[in-house]
Amino acid sequence: MNRDAPMLGVINAGSSSLKFAVYDEEALVLSGQVDGIGVHPGIRVAGARSEAIDAPDIGSPATPADVLPRLLPWLRERLGGRPLAALGHRVVHGGASHTGPARITPALLRELADLAPLAPLHMPHNLAPMRAVLEHAPGLPQVACFDTAFHRTVPEVAQAFAIPRDLAAKGVRRYGFHGLSYEYIASALPSAAPDIAQGRVVVAHLGNGASLCALQEGRSVATTMGFSALDGLPMGTRCGELDAGVVLYLLEREAMSTSEIEDLLYRRSGMLGLSGVSSDFRDLLASADPRARFALEVFVYRVARGVGSLAAALGGLDGMVFTAGIGEHAAPVRAAVCQACAWLGIELDPVANASHGPRISCPRARAAAYVIPTDENLTIARHTRALIAEGR
Ligand code: ADP
Repeated sequence: MNRDAPMLGVINAGSSSLKFAVYDEEALVLSGQVDGIGVHPGIRVAGARSEAIDAPDIGSPATPADVLPRLLPWLRERLGGRPLAALGHRVVHGGASHTGPARITPALLRELADLAPLAPLHMPHNLAPMRAVLEHAPGLPQVACFDTAFHRTVPEVAQAFAIPRDLAAKGVRRYGFHGLSYEYIASALPSAAPDIAQGRVVVAHLGNGASLCALQEGRSVATTMGFSALDGLPMGTRCGELDAGVVLYLLEREAMSTSEIEDLLYRRSGMLGLSGVSSDFRDLLASADPRARFALEVFVYRVARGVGSLAAALGGLDGMVFTAGIGEHAAPVRAAVCQACAWLGIELDPVANASHGPRISCPRARAAAYVIPTDENLTIARHTRALIAEGR
């Protein structure tokens, strides 16, 4: 460890939460989370080995950005005088032009504010903390790391919707999300799964949000999420792929407003809507309710169909990687997906799967399967360090 090397902060701001982490080179120093902002704010902070550490008094922040004026001085003290060299922010949308991270300036903030209509549920919350830091700590460099950027290598044919082209020029196209997670997995493959790292790999990021990404030699060539983070696989509370005709029907026949439809598709659908029990896979796996069983069946079916679709985009499959909450911990879900993907050459090793891998396929399998924990924050810290080191 280089005691003189400054540390890096990572910020991931949502509508009522703010997650943060500090890295020393590649090592996590601490991480924390403020939840319930605007209602009943609560903060948890953990050290490098997940041990709880005393959290700062954050007062009663009205918004996630309001946490920073108290959090940053506490961090300075906690880090014993070693400065934060920069803050890296997770930003859900970088539009069609950002293929990598970017230094945050007033001009970039204006540009990103123009992209807000593409991700209205996330962008305003991602941008507010950057603005707050520019105002209160203008000397602290900041870097925006986009969830869309990793997918800018996807071929144009795979990014296009079959609608009039002038709409594509206005930004109506497939972008893809979870890019910081896929980028981490791509970076981990050479050491964690060297046999498939240079091959055709489908990564299944299965968390509250869920998507699949097709990697060819570590680069994204297709993904299941599209224009918004609503597309693709069914998720905890989001519907995933849905015939656009359903939205027209809800507008016209059910006389629902756009905000009612938004609430339905983002917050009341997916596993919660299908099961009527819960959006959480732990509850669903433990439930004897037939609707919970059915929801799990739909999920597995859709993941397996998605893997087949991405294998078609790749022209074959050398391996699969499971990651994020469900992918890393839900052995029965992995087993069911692998079974449904047997035709692609995946053959599960049940013992390895029960202990979460890392390799969960039999040695003789034509296509390998792995469990690799993701680390989006580390991807952000790496990008931030690299950009600052380049002086950009
Ligand atoms: P987010 O998208 O919010 O980061 P996560 O990657 O943390 O989500 O994934 C959350 C999901 O992972 C939840 O559905 C949760 O039930 C599931 N999960 C976490 N741990 C387990 C476990 N041990 N068994 C089954 N599912 C789990």
